[in-house]
Formats: sequence, C-alpha cells, structure tokens
Amino acid sequence: MAQKILVVEDEAKLAQFIELELKYEGYQVTIAPDGFAGLAAVRESQPDLVILDWMLPGISGPEICRRLRSTGDQVPIILLTAKDEVSDRVAGLDAGADDYVVKPFSVEELLARVRVQLRRSQEQESEILQFEDLSLNHRTREVYRGNRLIELTAKEFDLLEYLLAHPRQVLTRDQILERVWGYDFMGDSNIIEVYVRYLRLKLEANKEKRLVQTVRGVGYVLRD
Ligand code: CA
Repeated sequence: MAQKILVVEDEAKLAQFIELELKYEGYQVTIAPDGFAGLAAVRESQPDLVILDWMLPGISGPEICRRLRSTGDQVPIILLTAKDEVSDRVAGLDAGADDYVVKPFSVEELLARVRVQLRRSQEQESEILQFEDLSLNHRTREVYRGNRLIELTAKEFDLLEYLLAHPRQVLTRDQILERVWGYDFMGDSNIIEVYVRYLRLKLEANKEKRLVQTVRGVGYVLRD
C-alpha cells in the first residue's frame, strides 16, 4: 500500500509542486493549507509522514509539532523553513521535528530526507508492540502507557510482551506458563495471578482502563 504523506504548506504553488513530485514517487499525498487544517488532517488521516512548513496561518509548524508530540503522536515530521539561522533549526528540532529542509531546497534533497524518515520509522515500528495506549519496545525494553513510562521486572515484561503479541486472543493459563515461565516450571500456577496483579497495578496506576482481562476458568486476554 502507498505510504501517506501530508503536506502542510500555505504557498499553494509550492504545495502543488511537492505533491506532484511525491505522487510521481508513488506516495499518496494530502495537502493542508494552514495550521488548523494540518493538525486536523494528521489526526484524521494518520499519515506516515508530515512535511510541515514553519510559517503557517493559524498555528505555526513548530507549535503543531509540539501539540502532536504532547499527545504521544510519533509521526515523522520534516520541517520546511525559510529561516536558516541555527537557533531556529534547534527550536524546530526541540519542538519534536525529526528533520528540516531549508527553503529553497532541491526536490532530490527533500525526497532523500523523506526516504530516510520513512525507513527509520518502519524500523522503529517493527521494534514496537502496541495496543490502545500501551506500547512496548523489544529493543529498549521500555513500556509506555500513553506518555507514562512504566517500570517492569523481567517477568512482568515477558508476560506483557506475550499478551501484546496476541491482542484480543484468549491465552490459556498453560500457554502462558509454558511461554513465560518455561516448560519445566514446577512451582505454583498461581504465579500467573500474582504477576497479572502486579502488572495491572502498574498499568492502571493512573486509573487507566483495564486492558489485561481475566477469562474465568481459562486464562487471560488483552482486550478493551
Ligand atoms: Ca509559509
């Protein structure tokens, strides 16, 4: 499926030019002409990448970055800026942009940056398991509920990883024991209940809704 790119740019001619070039490369392109439309479009169409002009009517590019990042949106963002002062670039990256291109730019440069960001985010995606507002990174072993980092022990992590790898699928107590504790586990099988309780306490510390559900007499399931 074609990757979706949102272009938030108020100069119509430049926006059309970028759209044409991106479409030629096989991307699916949407244009938003101002900050508010841009912010709405990110939330509605969930693009794979955003090309974001710095100076926009409504909300500025860096402000859009900040708002997206503050709600946990990790979509790759490339800022377009006419200002090439170093301090502005830093401000853009501080706001949560992944890269920037200084106007006037060559289309080859923009396309190269787009490819880099899309590749990077695909690599990151394969490292991350997600369900609702819960995410787990295999590589860094970090777990987040929304923006909240959750500290888990090794076994709690393994248990959550197993559940996250099989969303909405009921996992029996035997499957969980075998997979998380190993075939030769000889201890009390109540260990699962104990660990599920720990996990829930940590996942619901801010009164978030329950995601690890008990299926009476069978096992557990990750479900809303
Ligand atoms: Ca502009």
